[in-house]
Amino acid sequence: MEQTLSIIKPDAVAKNVVGQILARFEAAGLRIAATKKTRLSRVDAEAFYAVHKDRPFFNDLVEFMISGPVVVSVLEGENAMAKNRELMGATNPKEAEPGTIRADFADSIDANAVHGSDSLENAAVEISFFFAQREIH
Ligand code: UDP
Repeated sequence: MEQTLSIIKPDAVAKNVVGQILARFEAAGLRIAATKKTRLSRVDAEAFYAVHKDRPFFNDLVEFMISGPVVVSVLEGENAMAKNRELMGATNPKEAEPGTIRADFADSIDANAVHGSDSLENAAVEISFFFAQREIH
């Protein structure tokens, strides 16, 4: 069964909408195979977003991701990666479809509530970044 990584970012954790976001995954038929609340160190955030290190928003993104706790989850199900991306909506919440997580909970393109793996290859790397195999069920 396909797996993908979700992060509920510090803005959404601060808004106390973790349960509402996880419920959307379940309502869409995805299972929560692993989940935990954690706080990224600067080194963690820089490593996780290394693909964006040359982008102008990299430093702000790292600062934002370490500004508070996050909730990371492994979502499992048919087409889990694409399904999660659909539930999330566009990167910029102003462009996100109504009813998507970002349209409903995000404030801006940088504080945009959720992360989701954007390919199966990245999903495997991102899942192993946060979870040991024995933590995924
Ligand atoms: N981001 C940003 N400014 C931008 C573009 C992206 O702060 O102009 C941040 C935003 O938090 C986004 C993350 O960088 O979620 C990763 O960008 P990507 O293009 O991979 O978007 P995503 O896959 O998260 O939709």
